[in-house]
Amino acid sequence: MVVYFDNNATTPLDPAVADKMCGFLKEHYGNPSSIYPLGRAVKEIITSAREAVAGALGAQRGEVFFTGSGTEADNWAIQGVLNTLPEKREIITSAIEHPAILNQAKFLEKKGIQFRYVPVDGSGIIDLDFLRAAVTPQTALISVMHANNEIGTVQPIETVVAIAREHGVLVHCDAVQSFGKLDLDVVKLGVDLLSVSGHKIYGPKGVGALFIRKGVDLCPFIHGGHQERGMRAGTENTVGIVGFGEAARILMERGRKDRDRIGRLTESLKEGIASHIPKVIFNGHPEKRVKNTLNVAFPGLESEAILLALATKGVSVSTGSACSSESEEVSPVLLAIGLRPEIARSCIRISLGRFNTEEDVRVFLRELPEIIVKLRQISAFDPEA
Ligand code: PLP
Repeated sequence: MVVYFDNNATTPLDPAVADKMCGFLKEHYGNPSSIYPLGRAVKEIITSAREAVAGALGAQRGEVFFTGSGTEADNWAIQGVLNTLPEKREIITSAIEHPAILNQAKFLEKKGIQFRYVPVDGSGIIDLDFLRAAVTPQTALISVMHANNEIGTVQPIETVVAIAREHGVLVHCDAVQSFGKLDLDVVKLGVDLLSVSGHKIYGPKGVGALFIRKGVDLCPFIHGGHQERGMRAGTENTVGIVGFGEAARILMERGRKDRDRIGRLTESLKEGIASHIPKVIFNGHPEKRVKNTLNVAFPGLESEAILLALATKGVSVSTGSACSSESEEVSPVLLAIGLRPEIARSCIRISLGRFNTEEDVRVFLRELPEIIVKLRQISAFDPEA
């Protein structure tokens, strides 16, 4: 049996999305920029996918621009604002952003852009007083993620926007991990720019979108043809966009029901872990969090060993964000919430999704306690210590 508990890394393609994509691939090869019927048909299909993604975000159709990934949307947001406001050279972001923001920041710092990193408390919530004090007339943008990919903590984006508005500063939000896991409404959030990705909502990989609020002036990111209304050149990933649109449509239809069920499964998993395994620590905020994610420390152990032992039983979990799980580096997110490196190295991330069942939870709770007991015996862990 295969138990897939790594839905924050990526989600399985919904079969209905796969059907839609296959049907499209077989029928539609036209270039959406062509003005004859073969091309026009594809353009219309892209328009309805854009409508679906916009609908799921509470945005207008004209505010959604397709990109090649969530990472690209994050890069466009920051570098687009810097190019639009060349006189402003400062960006404020949080200490626990995804590498799509933090590694981009490292790159831009070398080019003279100054980044200020808002610290977080032990549950992963940003320090709003620090944020307030960090804004200067040089600030071009505040970029704060919505839900954290590793610990699931959800940031107070509306308050971030209120602070930014006092200073006339634009706000970008990386919502790649909250899209599908929370009711996203760009109007309620009040942000100017927001990134999402297809493969986190049971859609295909290699397609994302950037919401650009109507009236916000943003430089194009990729220059060339007039695709995406001249904002993101390159012949469209038509099949990816079709899949993303269908995934967004399904989200609007059944997203809330899915979330409640996933939340209950995750809660029973958490209770099972807490009651069967001594001395575990659950990271992240207890309430302000997406309901599918658990990040658990097993003091005395190495997360890699737990992950590999689970893998031999057919269970997939992660040691951190997918992008950093192959590196030796300790998760910066876990360090930022104040964990000691040896505790951070003992954490695994369990993230549930639409296709998980009660049986998955039962299998996991049967395998994990045994694995932990064995590994703790080898590591001479003293639970009384
Ligand atoms: N931002 C966050 C918070 C993410 O979790 C991810 C992916 O894990 C990304 C951005 C990058 O999205 P993509 O994989 O579409 O490039």
